[in-house]
Amino acid sequence: MSGKKRKDPIQCSFCGRSSQVVSSMIAGPEVYICNYCVNDAAGIVEQESIKKKNARSSNYSKILKPLEIKAKLDEYVIGQDYAKKTLSVAVYNHYKRISLEEHKHITGDIQIEKSNILLLGPTGSGKTLLARTLAKLINVPITIADATALTEAGYVGEDVESILANLLQAADYDVERAQRGIVYIDEVDKVARKSDNPSITRDVSGEGVQQALLKILEGTVANVPPKGGRKHPEQSFVKVDTTNILFICGGAFDGLAEVISRRLSSSSMGFQSQSQIRFDKNNPKIFSYTEPEDLQKFGLIPELIGRLPVISGLHELDKATLIEIMTKPKNAIVKQYQLMFEMEDVELVFEEDALEAVVELAMVRKTGARGLKSIMEKSMLEIMFSLPSMKNVKRCIITRATITENAPPIYEKQKVSA
Ligand code: ADP
Repeated sequence: MSGKKRKDPIQCSFCGRSSQVVSSMIAGPEVYICNYCVNDAAGIVEQESIKKKNARSSNYSKILKPLEIKAKLDEYVIGQDYAKKTLSVAVYNHYKRISLEEHKHITGDIQIEKSNILLLGPTGSGKTLLARTLAKLINVPITIADATALTEAGYVGEDVESILANLLQAADYDVERAQRGIVYIDEVDKVARKSDNPSITRDVSGEGVQQALLKILEGTVANVPPKGGRKHPEQSFVKVDTTNILFICGGAFDGLAEVISRRLSSSSMGFQSQSQIRFDKNNPKIFSYTEPEDLQKFGLIPELIGRLPVISGLHELDKATLIEIMTKPKNAIVKQYQLMFEMEDVELVFEEDALEAVVELAMVRKTGARGLKSIMEKSMLEIMFSLPSMKNVKRCIITRATITENAPPIYEKQKVSA
């Protein structure tokens, strides 16, 4: 036995070199590593860390500039230029702020404060679409929440921590990533305080929800229950610091136009002693005149308004814009139908007048661009039902009557040679 041991000296468990040919051999429990392998391993670890660092800095250089972010948004969202610019700058600065956090040692004490955003705009004007499109463009996790589903902690319903749970999920449970993410909270106008705004009907817990939102907007370390919590089976809460999360709040703010127009009308009184100018509350750009005091009158608590320093108004969509929405964006409704018909080898054509009819119906509904799809679906149902069984149709032309009276479209048939 002992003779065999002498013949078979200690070997490195990684490269197999014997202890006799290396200068040092480190022993672990039942393993050995020689000085060569220690060196190699250190090299690998260093390479990995360089790769990671490079990846981070190249990520930063790959960040889209505000102009590029807006150009991308333009592909999907029609009009609303001011809101697009606001968001492009905000997201770009968000990246910058995050990058500064990583290089604190160079930047010293200067910190860029986060500027959460409030998007005001009538329903169906593109607020959620903007947030969703942003999510596709940028490389940070984003989640979309609805303020009306929230309640004060302790009440039945979701509490604000659930928003962070969704963000955590969007970040693949990477807490670091989630802490630099973006949260879009829709319908914040619905949690306005009732006493200041009797025309709004809403949840009694409105103000409590605002207080709870305030907490996460200000920056807090929240205890978040991980959804689906597979990755954290042993712990019931994950700590998420919201200091660097960018919050975008959106809402239709019905009734706010009235408040703004009243303020603007009264403030111009001094100059117009004879005929007082009334600022038209139906001015499509009214939200661009919003001041914090208007929001307070509407029923948002001042602390929450203070945490939303960037206010951007979306305007009501006019007829021409609604037609563009149906035809221009990358995934415009008309393009979608045309693709479906193409799969049947049929060219689908919408007469201009037909598109106008869809828009006119949508405008009556007052749901912005949201109504376009359902009006179109209704008009197209019969055609989509019968067309696949029809023979030799090469073109299908949708007219105004197809939209308004459900009249059949014009079918142009292929000439069949005898
Ligand atoms: P809201 O402002 O109420 O959040 P949404 O963004 O949800 O409105 O809009 C509803 C739908 O209407 C979107 O999914 C999109 O199809 C369409 N839409 C609204 N505004 C625009 C716009 N400016 N450009 C393109 N499509 C739009």
